[in-house]
Amino acid sequence: MFRTRRGRLLQQQGYDQAQNYEWFYSNNLEKAPYLLTNYSVLEDDIAPEGHNVLILAVYLDYDWNDVWHFYSDRDAYNEFKQEVAEVFLVRAEKLLPDLRRHITTLSIATPPTLESFTLNPGGAFYGFHNTPEYALLNRIEQETPIGGLYLAGAWTFPGPGQSAVMQSGQIAAGYVLKKMAEAEGGEK
Ligand SMILES: Cc1cc2nc3c(=O)[nH]c(=O)nc-3n(C[C@H](O)[C@H](O)[C@H](O)COP(=O)(O)OP(=O)(O)OC[C@H]3O[C@@H](n4cnc5c(N)ncnc54)[C@H](O)[C@@H]3O)c2cc1C
Repeated sequence: MFRTRRGRLLQQQGYDQAQNYEWFYSNNLEKAPYLLTNYSVLEDDIAPEGHNVLILAVYLDYDWNDVWHFYSDRDAYNEFKQEVAEVFLVRAEKLLPDLRRHITTLSIATPPTLESFTLNPGGAFYGFHNTPEYALLNRIEQETPIGGLYLAGAWTFPGPGQSAVMQSGQIAAGYVLKKMAEAEGGEK
């Protein structure tokens, strides 16, 4: 286990990233590295006094157990995601003893949850085809061949992630402002 930044802990068994990757994709709940972030360290008013907002995140396979039973059996899905969460909460108790006893609200999100909220294929939180060949300058630009249509967001340059999408929006806004100025005969 080591600390990566303020309020954020990464627990992994070792530094062999090929092995860590294998544990993710074999859904090895006991070994897969996970990230535990206490958002209240950064913003103390996001939870009531004396409480914290903690997020425990782990990569697990989308296709696991017929997509977590999500599409076929909702009871089995709810039961299964609880079981999976329980394993990680027990692991987290090695860092934060008695964690489960102190939880007042627990929300569990799975790959199908992310898929249903983001509409990204497979619930991929960084979006489709996030590969080196499709990174940075190889991503879609904000300006399109269709007049007046501009693009912004994780699918465009420079890519996914909060700071990157803000940059993408800023670039798109720049094109729109330039176009407006031109239309008004002002600065080009
Ligand atoms: C669980 C999770 C954790 C993440 N953690 C991190 C992290 O720690 N750090 C990081 O940098 N990035 C993280 N990301 C990635 C980051 O959140 C995304 O890359 C980024 O938010 C994508 O921005 P976007 O503007 O493209 O899309 P979104 O943020 O998804 O915004 C799209 C917006 O469009 C709205 N919308 C959709 N359809 C319509 C419609 N028809 N009409 C009107 N509005 C519509 C949606 O409601 C949404 O508000 C995470 C993502 C997820 C899912």
